[in-house]
Amino acid sequence: MSHDVVIAGSGPLGIAAARRLAERGASVLVLEQGEAISDPPGSHFRNSDRFVAQPDSYLAAATKYLEFIDDSQPRDALPGAAVTRTVGGQGVIWTNLCPRGDALWPVMSDEEWSARYAVAEEYLFVQTDRLEQSIRQQLIGAELGKVLEATGRKVEELPVAGQFLDGGILHYTGPFDILNADVELRKKVTMRHDRVNRIVTEGHKVKHLETASGRVEARSYVIAGGAIGTPQLLFRSGIRPYALGRYLSYHPLAVCQIVVAPELCSTGDAVDVDPRIQVRPGGETPWFTLVLHDVSPFEPTGEDVEVSPNRLVEIQSICPVDNEEHKRAIFHEEGHVTFDVPLSDADLGRMSAAEAEAHELTGLLGRIRQGCALAWMPFGFAHMTGTTRMSASNDGTGIADYQGRVWDYDNLFLATNGLIPTRMSVNPTLTGVSLAIHMADHIQH
Ligand SMILES: Cc1cc2nc3c(=O)[nH]c(=O)nc-3n(C[C@H](O)[C@H](O)[C@H](O)COP(=O)(O)OP(=O)(O)OC[C@H]3O[C@@H](n4cnc5c(N)ncnc54)[C@H](O)[C@@H]3O)c2cc1C
Repeated sequence: MSHDVVIAGSGPLGIAAARRLAERGASVLVLEQGEAISDPPGSHFRNSDRFVAQPDSYLAAATKYLEFIDDSQPRDALPGAAVTRTVGGQGVIWTNLCPRGDALWPVMSDEEWSARYAVAEEYLFVQTDRLEQSIRQQLIGAELGKVLEATGRKVEELPVAGQFLDGGILHYTGPFDILNADVELRKKVTMRHDRVNRIVTEGHKVKHLETASGRVEARSYVIAGGAIGTPQLLFRSGIRPYALGRYLSYHPLAVCQIVVAPELCSTGDAVDVDPRIQVRPGGETPWFTLVLHDVSPFEPTGEDVEVSPNRLVEIQSICPVDNEEHKRAIFHEEGHVTFDVPLSDADLGRMSAAEAEAHELTGLLGRIRQGCALAWMPFGFAHMTGTTRMSASNDGTGIADYQGRVWDYDNLFLATNGLIPTRMSVNPTLTGVSLAIHMADHIQH
């Protein structure tokens, strides 16, 4: 046996687990089925010169690496559901927003959650640097505070995973940076281009993985294939607990872009630092509101094609979907996956309330940029969770225990947002990375 632990998947969660295991002295093999799309492999695609020069071209270029499962489907069959097969997974194309989670569950104490988040933030280089220099951050933040703090919510800085380089360019963190932080650690982690076809088990143990290139053996196995790929591999391997794919949650996400009123931004030539404001769920409001200038899915039209970046922000409303047993990914014997996630009246009610709030905030901050009116991103696109959820006991409501170990298997672990069992409203990756670190700490090697 040449490695202590083998990890399937090189996204941010697989690589965070690899780093944590290496820090604890384990030798780790990471198998990734996808090719590199960035240089060095696993670094963020957005760091390339062309997106530094043309930031607005980034989202369209990045989404070419989303393989939609079936984008012709109606809303409840999740036309936006997609996977990315690359070195670094979706961690080379994500937009790096890193709020700590809401709706935490007792997988660890509050102090342990806080400690794990701190490690995850270090791995991902999470920070709120320079926001105090942003004119929009200050003026818009104060304006939002006047109306939103009355709803029991706070207007705060939104952290991002990245470091400012000399010259003020933000270097976005990709999985490569998680490992590259330490040369000695990198030596303990071997990356290999390979696809795991099947997990082969005997009794309560994984014996080996069957991969495209043969058989891979280790003491422990971590499946980190994303919230769709992970349960798909379990299913393909005959590991089919009742909860697999059920209780699925995701984020219906509404976006618009605004031309900010002159009194809330700088209208001069000096480049303003882009703002990132978060308004977390609180009081009676369950959704997550972001006001930021980051990426936009729109093609502006008419007189608004040319607008100074200093005058632009997007409003993003991220709505949670209740975890309910019947909302599910369905895995088929032939290998494909379909979705049945009917939004309930409660889910839809939250979405229309969030939409009304986005219109209200637009009026407060400025006006819609032509061609950039509020639109829902394809349903299923953002932040799938729950597909391999954790449960406190092996009672049919979960796939893995509170250490991330698959129920009934001694040496099979998961690192995926699919473990998140609650209705989380904020972007999940920082929580997923924290869980991957927590899981890695429970692997004996
Ligand atoms: C455009 C975009 C923007 C986003 N922005 C944010 C954001 O701002 N904040 C946030 O929190 N989240 C964001 N996300 C979500 C974030 O990217 C994911 O939460 C994160 O990448 C999940 O990491 P992962 O390691 O679990 O899976 P992934 O990143 O999906 O990586 C899984 C990897 O496993 C590999 N794999 C799967 N099966 C196998 C197999 N059988 N054998 C070998 N390899 C396998 C895949 O090829 C893939 O490379 C965004 C996503 C997208 C698409």
